[in-house]
Amino acid sequence: MSFLEVSPASNRMDIWTPPTLEELSRQVLLKNEALAISALENLSKMLFPALFKEAFSSRCTRIVKAMVAAWPFPYLPVGALMNTFNSEIFHAVLEGLDVLLTQQVCPMRGKLRVLDFRRMPREFWPIQAGTEDGNCSAETGSDKQAGKRRSRRELRPRMKVRVDLYFRSQLKEEEMYFLQWAQQRKGSLQICCDNMKIVLLSLDKVRMVLSAFKPEHIKVLELNIDWSWCTLAQFSTYLREMRNLHTLSLVNFNMDRLSSCCPPPRSDEKKFVQKFVSQFSRISSLQHLYLCGFSFFSEHMKLLLRNLKTPLETFSITHCHVFHSHLKDFALCPSLHGLKHLDMSGVLLCNVCILPLSVLLEMGADRLETLELQGCRIKDSQFRELLPALSQCSQLTKVNFYANDFSMNLLSDLLHHTANMNKMTMERYPAPRECYDRWGHVSRDTFSQLCSQLMDTLRAIRQPKRISFATYICGRCFQCCVYDQEARLCSCLQ
Ligand SMILES: [Zn+2]
Repeated sequence: MSFLEVSPASNRMDIWTPPTLEELSRQVLLKNEALAISALENLSKMLFPALFKEAFSSRCTRIVKAMVAAWPFPYLPVGALMNTFNSEIFHAVLEGLDVLLTQQVCPMRGKLRVLDFRRMPREFWPIQAGTEDGNCSAETGSDKQAGKRRSRRELRPRMKVRVDLYFRSQLKEEEMYFLQWAQQRKGSLQICCDNMKIVLLSLDKVRMVLSAFKPEHIKVLELNIDWSWCTLAQFSTYLREMRNLHTLSLVNFNMDRLSSCCPPPRSDEKKFVQKFVSQFSRISSLQHLYLCGFSFFSEHMKLLLRNLKTPLETFSITHCHVFHSHLKDFALCPSLHGLKHLDMSGVLLCNVCILPLSVLLEMGADRLETLELQGCRIKDSQFRELLPALSQCSQLTKVNFYANDFSMNLLSDLLHHTANMNKMTMERYPAPRECYDRWGHVSRDTFSQLCSQLMDTLRAIRQPKRISFATYICGRCFQCCVYDQEARLCSCLQ
């Protein structure tokens, strides 16, 4: 074998680097599982990460299992290696942890304290020493009390497993396995689930999921449901246990039950709504609230807002029934006075006095970064009342006003009111009303001409980055005409 080889593709001289002694020894170990496992006891700890990475990608399950048990560092970010899920390797890791848990009675080499299954966009190794203790900061008062009562041996911190979980429609075999595994080790392991997304599971399944973890560790919960108010009320008792929840997203998939397409809940359902909104008073860390597809009576919205105990950064109430009284309550709610993100897309506001929204804009003028009012069908006269407050929001980086009923005149005024918004990176405006004929059809020439005119208006005021104008969705091809750098017409008009 030559140290100099000519690459035929490039026809240039490449220097062939021979494998290092370390690489050669890794190859030998990976080919002989028994040798590798027996060598772990004396293996330099600096050789562990690279060997583990190769054993993992080569699916050497016995070596992976043994290495988890003998891992000489406190932290193992195994999720960084799990680009695609492999059940054999997953089982091997859990089995390795089981070995370690058994060894803890008589500790051997293993130093692992935190096994991290979260998929993070970063390198598996090196981990900066001391930065990854995987500390679950959600230790509760009751945990601390219990800690005081534990003996010295028990005071040794419990092994932690960190996971992000996404359940969709049915629990898969692997998910059931992990839940049962976690359930059985609840006493000896601390399982911390930071992010949980549940899509269309029955309440019974959700109960099964939540029984495997302490809900107080959940920081982000996304729940997409098709439940009745009664079921949602039953679930809501878990919310009060989620004391560290900072992001809650509730999306209603059942448009017949809780949606904006039907009136707010019937009188016999009121007690369930009351129970649900009452739980918000217990979520003391909430910063981001997303509600999509719900309808509330005024009294319930008032109660929900009153129960918000912390200033929110994000308030997203989309595709919901919103009345003037709701908007007045938004304006009076101190938790909504420092918003960074306000989204009311899909909320029909054409027949509502939206003046209270200007209070929210004024109160958050120094902080508001994104404002989305897409599909609200707001008219000129309504929006004109918001302009003075809007012009004060100098921190805005993104606005979306698509699908509102604005004239050329209003749009021109609106653009002038954005003069001091130099941080804007994305702005979306509705195509002016004048683009449509009396039957609501888009006139392609007028569309291009008026949007180009508006673009020139804004360029004379400031230099926009990404800006676009769009028509309502075409009823025939379900596309919009969009004007950004040029006019892109819906299929029917091409
Ligand atoms: Zn069309």
